[in-house]
Amino acid sequence: MDFRNYKDCNKNVVKLYKNQRINQTLEFVKKSINKYCQFNRKDKFWDLFEKMNLKDLSDPDLDCENYYHFYQTAEAIRKDGHPEWMQLVGLIHDFGKILYMKGSKEDGTTEDTQWGIVGDTFVVGCKIPDTIVFPEFNKLNKDDYDELGIYKNKIGLNNVFCSFGHDEYLYRLLKFNNVNIPEEGFYMIRFHSLYLWHDKNEYDFLEDDKDKKMKSYVKLFNKYDLYTKDNNNKNMNKIKNYYKNLIKKFIPEYIYW
Ligand code: FE
Ligand code: FE
Repeated sequence: MDFRNYKDCNKNVVKLYKNQRINQTLEFVKKSINKYCQFNRKDKFWDLFEKMNLKDLSDPDLDCENYYHFYQTAEAIRKDGHPEWMQLVGLIHDFGKILYMKGSKEDGTTEDTQWGIVGDTFVVGCKIPDTIVFPEFNKLNKDDYDELGIYKNKIGLNNVFCSFGHDEYLYRLLKFNNVNIPEEGFYMIRFHSLYLWHDKNEYDFLEDDKDKKMKSYVKLFNKYDLYTKDNNNKNMNKIKNYYKNLIKKFIPEYIYW
């Protein structure tokens, strides 16, 4: 199978990226973090996890509920003998898409919009590289920054703003709920959609020493995120108990979201 082929993808994917590029400005990102990352709802993690049945409109490879992708990613990581924390990252890395359950149309956070939830991310507040998917939409973005934009050289990716979506939301949610995983895991979660960085080698002027070290882990994770996608493998019943226990080890029964 050929992954991430945007040449002949369906028009929903194109529309999503167009809206994303138009609307994801520095101002939008700051506003969205403020609005969505207050974490004032409290629910059982497992119940939310089981309810996550969003179909990702930006994904040219998958045409089923994201829920199966969670298990497919985690299973491949487990089969290769990686540690439990990384299996957990595989399992929950897209859980931030739960945003759609409290979304609004104007922010692109509803099931039928999604441009504020999914899609490859980019750093806002500086120039958007032409190596991004659908670079022809870059000129629609209202922000007009030069290469370095508002940032200082080597400021570090943890100190920049990325376009808002499930990566940033989940990163903040886990921190808020005191979930304890290694720094590598947080990088995998926060930057897995930043293909410009981990796949296209952009943003080296923003990288600090820690980013440089962490990049290989994000790349390793991406292999599992991407190449395990399978529209036909949906029988998760046999493995559910294993992952239910894994979740218990790392995540509180009730979470704020
Ligand atoms: Fe994702
Ligand atoms: Fe994913």
